[in-house]
Amino acid sequence: MGATSGLYFDDYSPVGDILVVALCAVMIILLAASYVNKTKAFRLFITMIVLLFMGAITDLIYHDAYLRITNGNYTLIYVLRVFYHAFLFSLLFLFVLYVIELQRHVISVRVPVILLSSIIYLTVIGTDIITTINGTGFKLKADGTEISGINIFLVGYLAFVVLLVILMIVFRNRLFKRVMVGFYGTMAMSFLVLYNQGRHGQSSFTAATFLFPMFAMLYFIHSTPYDVELGAIDAKALNDMVRYNYDRKSQLIFMSLYLPDFDSEGKTIPAEMQAVIRRFASSFFNGGILFQINNGHVILMAKKIYNPDYENKVNKLINAFYDEYERFKYDYKIVVGESIDEISRKNEYVSFINNIHRNMEMNSIHMVEYDDVTQFNRYEYILEELGDIYRRHDLRDSRVLAYCQPVFNIKKQKYDTAEALMRLKLPETGLVFPDQFIPLAEEHGYIHVLTEIILQKTCDEIRHLLSEGYEVKRISINVSTLELRDESFIDDIERIIKESGIPDNKVAIEITESQSESDFLIMKKTINALKDRGIKFYLDDFGTGYSNMERIMEIPFDIIKFDRSLVIASDSNEKSEKMVESLADMFSKLDYSVLYEGVENASDEERCIRMSASYLQGYKYSRPVPIIELQNFFSKIDS
Ligand code: C2E
Ligand code: CA
Ligand code: CA
Repeated sequence: MGATSGLYFDDYSPVGDILVVALCAVMIILLAASYVNKTKAFRLFITMIVLLFMGAITDLIYHDAYLRITNGNYTLIYVLRVFYHAFLFSLLFLFVLYVIELQRHVISVRVPVILLSSIIYLTVIGTDIITTINGTGFKLKADGTEISGINIFLVGYLAFVVLLVILMIVFRNRLFKRVMVGFYGTMAMSFLVLYNQGRHGQSSFTAATFLFPMFAMLYFIHSTPYDVELGAIDAKALNDMVRYNYDRKSQLIFMSLYLPDFDSEGKTIPAEMQAVIRRFASSFFNGGILFQINNGHVILMAKKIYNPDYENKVNKLINAFYDEYERFKYDYKIVVGESIDEISRKNEYVSFINNIHRNMEMNSIHMVEYDDVTQFNRYEYILEELGDIYRRHDLRDSRVLAYCQPVFNIKKQKYDTAEALMRLKLPETGLVFPDQFIPLAEEHGYIHVLTEIILQKTCDEIRHLLSEGYEVKRISINVSTLELRDESFIDDIERIIKESGIPDNKVAIEITESQSESDFLIMKKTINALKDRGIKFYLDDFGTGYSNMERIMEIPFDIIKFDRSLVIASDSNEKSEKMVESLADMFSKLDYSVLYEGVENASDEERCIRMSASYLQGYKYSRPVPIIELQNFFSKIDS
């Protein structure tokens, strides 16, 4: 190679550039096969690959031309040489832009650095063109011998390297440390190769050294690994896909599959089901991308333009799913829809879909409509208000209302207890019922503050009723199992009651059975501590969950609240009535009082009394009323 020319090009072999061309192609293949976030940095990166590819090819042609041109007309060689360097320097320039783009929040350095890079770039290329034309730079003699002349490239190259190193040092704490180490490591390899090729009088691998940091970029910044089994990628990438397509006004379609059985830490969708999802994701939609949101939740997104007949496809997919469902029978919720600008703009598909899940039946398919957006906005608004209530921590916050439902005491034939029930009253929505905010408050850790507010308002009213001479045995408040985990729970309850100046035993707490062993132990401890102060405890919603008698007995409850479902069941046939009656008898014999919830009519009432009731609660007596109206039900002590 190059034996004929004898001089300058003897130390060049095309292997380096051939390798660069091939590896650039490899990178492009890998990027096409993987999912990438099409950020600005990514577009810079792709441009850099193309520039390097072009640079290496130009270098190959340039050296080839050198060998072939023997007539002394070297113009083509000069031009190619300038182009080769222009490609590499453009690449260096983009390197700088890229580093800045990664740090885009540090705007202040942007302008001076870009200015400086532009000056270096223009100086190098300008000088090269001028010196080539006026003959003071690189020149080939008629016999093919080379005169290097003024070599501006080395200076320009060093200037860029220094600039990049300074930027890396300035931003050293901006990227995750291991990523930085990765970049430094690959750059060190570049210098090692440059040093060695210099030692051997070589120039074949110059372009190759540009590749190393690009591999680091590909590896650390632009690769989004698939879950190899499921074929899904991380949920984080969903936001990028939504933003990218929203910016380009490109409609997306989405299908969300939620399998609640697997939606908890440490669980995964079983392998066979994963295979089904993988197959569905790739065979029904063109260019569909599967995102793994949670262990039991995946969302498939695809561009609408690639799937114009998507409604058809959705139907096919759903039919195929039903066939599979026969085999697996896992509970599911499926949501299907097209992208909606309002949700795309805020990039909130996951919470949007989660909100739909809250309102839909298990094992059903929901087609998104505009109504869902209205619902979602309402949900977001409520959540915002809850957050505000939480942060203000004003125990007399006027947005939280205490309603009360009086409870009929059968033995005394009057109302002397009641249950406090929460409502929200928000400026934009009016009255909001518990099913629309309690689960939210629990999910976001706001529930305890709400309990404190209800307790405060209940204590205020108890004090008021007592001072007016009403006979109030107690009022119960509802407490969520989650709250008990809070270490300050006991103190908070005690403090609020104490500061209200009412006796502790005027307040009772309703709580439902806990599912987990650890919650059960916490509950036992908490209840025992508060019982010592005279606070009574109700087991709420008995008959709805998996009642574990052993556990129930271990906690000193005073009253068992039989859920309305038992009242309804007891009406269906004699056997059911006997069953409910036996349960109630058993509790009575064990010294618990039995309260029936949801007593709606005279027939319910009669049956409940027959079934060992001590207390009755339900619409038959009263709907929940604002707490100040409770005095209409309670009687004065002297009457
Ligand atoms: P719950 O504790 O079982 O409360 C009884 C629910 O049944 C109340 O619904 C009440 O209005 C309703 N109800 C009362 N009588 C009848 C009847 O005769 N028939 C029928 N069908 N329903 C009746 P509400 O007020 O909507 O509360 C729903 C749930 O929200 C409550 O169920 C409770 O779990 C929760 N909740 C309410 N207030 C609070 C609170 O302050 N804190 C907590 N943690 N949860 C609360
Ligand atoms: Ca209750
Ligand atoms: Ca209940």
